[in-house]
Amino acid sequence: MDMDSIVSLCKRRGFLFQSSEIYGGLQGFWDYGPLGVELKRNVKEAWWRDMVSCHDDMNTLDGAPSPYAMEGLDCTIIMHPQVWKCSGHYDLFHDFMVDCKETKKRYRHDQLNGRWVEAKDKKIFVTAPAGDDELEVMTKRALKFYNLRNKNIDDLKWDGDSTCLTEIEDLSVVLGPDAKQLGTLTEPREFNLMFKTFVGALSGEEGAAYLRPETAQGIFVNFKNVLDSTRHRLPLGIAQIGKSFRNEITPRNFTFRSREFEQMEIEFFCHPDKSRDWYQFWRDRRLKWYHDLGISGDNLIMREHTPEEAAHYSTGTADIEYAFPFMAEGEYGELEGIAHRGNFDLRSHMEGKLDENSDTLEVQLGEDGKPKWKGSGKDLSYRDDLTNEKYIPHVIEPSAGADRAALAFLCEAYTEDEQPDDKGKMQTRTVMKLHPRLAPIKAAVFPLVKKDGMPEVAKDVYLKLKKDFKVFYDEKGAVGRRYRRQDEAGTPYCITVDGQTLDDQTVTIRDRDTLEQVRVKIDEVSSIVKERVEG
Ligand code: ATP
Repeated sequence: MDMDSIVSLCKRRGFLFQSSEIYGGLQGFWDYGPLGVELKRNVKEAWWRDMVSCHDDMNTLDGAPSPYAMEGLDCTIIMHPQVWKCSGHYDLFHDFMVDCKETKKRYRHDQLNGRWVEAKDKKIFVTAPAGDDELEVMTKRALKFYNLRNKNIDDLKWDGDSTCLTEIEDLSVVLGPDAKQLGTLTEPREFNLMFKTFVGALSGEEGAAYLRPETAQGIFVNFKNVLDSTRHRLPLGIAQIGKSFRNEITPRNFTFRSREFEQMEIEFFCHPDKSRDWYQFWRDRRLKWYHDLGISGDNLIMREHTPEEAAHYSTGTADIEYAFPFMAEGEYGELEGIAHRGNFDLRSHMEGKLDENSDTLEVQLGEDGKPKWKGSGKDLSYRDDLTNEKYIPHVIEPSAGADRAALAFLCEAYTEDEQPDDKGKMQTRTVMKLHPRLAPIKAAVFPLVKKDGMPEVAKDVYLKLKKDFKVFYDEKGAVGRRYRRQDEAGTPYCITVDGQTLDDQTVTIRDRDTLEQVRVKIDEVSSIVKERVEG
């Protein structure tokens, strides 16, 4: 599997185009072409059906600790600016960047490994003796960065004497003498990843607003609305699919790190005592979803975060990761994070309501000991009407990216094999072995030849199937070439009208992966394809 072939197929066949390509493109932005838009819709549709609309709320399935309710939501991209202050994104959602004055190279802070990495991706890791003022500042900044991103390293301290920060060696936040190699560095610059805009006629700070960097906050601030309007009892999951925006310093690796992307997020609200069990459930449930849709084997892993990586409020976070072809051997890229978020988010939005009778309503304090951002002041706790217990629910958050999932499905599907052509000569065939549920086109309909009434019959079949699925009609060129084109598009079934059709009203259905052809009655085609696609 090599990335260049996948990228070139995506462009050639209309899965993905660079945004504003005729003007030279815009880095970090991608358009989905005719096949891509169907694929991505199918990814989102599969997620929504499996997680929300077809969820069985009467029974315990897939190891769920109890039956649970599931509802959907569709919130705005621009929300009240206070939302981002209380969520922490306004203060904390920063990246760090330094520029080398001599080489003019730019380095960004790789949050996962805690290293300064050349923004173009070539990694330069350096170590330094402690005590170098400039480096100390930078290292402290890096530490602050971890703190700000809620990484649990409060107990780490700068040790001015040792040659490196032993405690943080694990995190590889080690900056060192070879930093000289980098030349003179500008001061690290903080870079808020949220896109800023202005609402209404006010162009000053009063009108400032942000494009959401995640869909999750829309769910938290609507928790009470959903609860009151549906009258569900907990446990309750609320799901949302929608665009998010991050002004990434180094967008790269095709759609993997984009500046505009779509997320598929669930916030699952439950009793604190049951939250560990639900965390376990959602880890397994989400991993199975990728397996069921065709990503299995060694390419997909579940990685539990180390305590250092986990957010301070989190009692568990795991990433579902995929071995994308652009990653180095043994490295994986995140498809989805499943986090136990405790009651952190609801509490942040509640703060401001100082209730002396409750020990859970605290005001968040800044470094100066003063309250930081006040929340809504609304009581977002839950009262169980059976037990009369009142509590702030704990939240499990499975947060997936629709674009990264679509890219992983594309990479996993890309296959080259050797198959005989029309003349029996072995040729390399490119085939996208997408799961039928995800395939952009479910079936293609061909007349074997463009005469003897075959096109008419084939068009009839096509129009009939079109009511139920995305189908494609093609009568141009040799049938072998038409099959090949559909293989590249990932179409699982090709239906051919031939001479025999005119005698007995049967057609052949060719399977993309096994190349097996079966003959079936025209009347049965629709139900057969439907059954195979939907399983
Ligand atoms: P990363 O560490 O790769 O930047 P993250 O941990 O910041 O990701 P989350 O904030 O957990 O990501 O977002 C949840 C999901 O949203 C990710 O698992 C990913 O699928 C998707 N996502 C996040 N950032 C991007 C991006 N820039 N481009 C495409 N998808 C993204």
